[in-house]
Amino acid sequence: MSVLIYAENAEGRFKKSTFEAVSYARAIADQNGAQLTAVSIGDVSNDELNNLAKYGADKILNIANAQLKNFVNQAYASVIAEAAKKEGADIVVLSNSFSGSGLAPRLGVKLDAGVVDGATALPEQNDGKFTVKKTAFSGKAFAIVELTSTNKVISLTPNAYKVVEAARAAQIEVFDAEVKASDLKTILKEIVRSADKVSLPDAEIVVSAGRGLKGPENWGMIEELATLLGAATACSKPVSDAGWRPHSEHVGQTGIAVSPNLYIAVGISGAIQHLAGISSSKVIVAINKDPEAPIFKVADYGIVGDAFEVVPKLIAAIKEHKA
Ligand code: FAD
Repeated sequence: MSVLIYAENAEGRFKKSTFEAVSYARAIADQNGAQLTAVSIGDVSNDELNNLAKYGADKILNIANAQLKNFVNQAYASVIAEAAKKEGADIVVLSNSFSGSGLAPRLGVKLDAGVVDGATALPEQNDGKFTVKKTAFSGKAFAIVELTSTNKVISLTPNAYKVVEAARAAQIEVFDAEVKASDLKTILKEIVRSADKVSLPDAEIVVSAGRGLKGPENWGMIEELATLLGAATACSKPVSDAGWRPHSEHVGQTGIAVSPNLYIAVGISGAIQHLAGISSSKVIVAINKDPEAPIFKVADYGIVGDAFEVVPKLIAAIKEHKA
């Protein structure tokens, strides 16, 4: 038995969700007395690769092929599957991130594996049964799934498992994976960032606002709060539908799913479709003038008040703290 973790990076740095997945994979390897191999793809320094050993990787495979510099779903799935076969891995773990959610089913096909997407806890292994708890119905419920196949692919919900240090003296091995032309039907040529903004899917802090803000002219204070906190800005669906904010900021079931450490919801009621996109946030803070707003049921901290009074006070307090 051997476990493989795909260590996703963003511009050469591993994300917090990657280290969570490494810790989770380490724990599965320990459950089974197995070795853990981490596979990294793209341009990542040896110093950064060594961080994978800090969280429990026994071995690190580095695939630095120039054709794989940018994420290409089909090609990444092929080389991760190749790495899993090379290592004899029966369990492949990855983060249920934007790219992870596309890779998991492809890996399932390539490895003839059962797939659990969005796991929230370590597998239970009793009486020869392998079961995993996962989110269901957009985070409204949990499901317990049994994997009956020999090979298994598990994607971990961000913020569902704590990062645990478990230092190992891992070797970094260059893995010269073959990239097939048939896997490069689409090629990411360039990523064009909108101004200097923090990317929403990867943001550690998100300041999000809804229809309670009344109109696009009132977003200045949301932008200012986000800039002060180094946060990305987001919004509810009706706000982007009305053209108050771009669609790229729309969070929820039909928009982007975020998993920040801190999600600040301003004037957002907390409809189930919105909550579907924020349920894996670590801490949710809600500002709403209606004490009965459903957002308070999921919020860790709630401020009942008028956003036009509360947000400027918050901005002033942060400025004072920073001075
Ligand atoms: P509202 O529900 O109108 O809430 C505004 C809130 O602001 C209220 O709670 C109010 O008390 C508060 N408020 C008003 N004034 C102030 C003030 N001065 N200070 C503080 N608070 C104030 N929605 C999404 O967001 N994302 C999705 O992906 C999504 N997908 C959907 C998919 C489907 C199939 C459907 C049917 C709906 C979807 N929706 C989605 C819409 C969703 O059901 C809600 O209508 C939407 O989330 C509500 O947006 P809101 O909270 O901004 O507005």
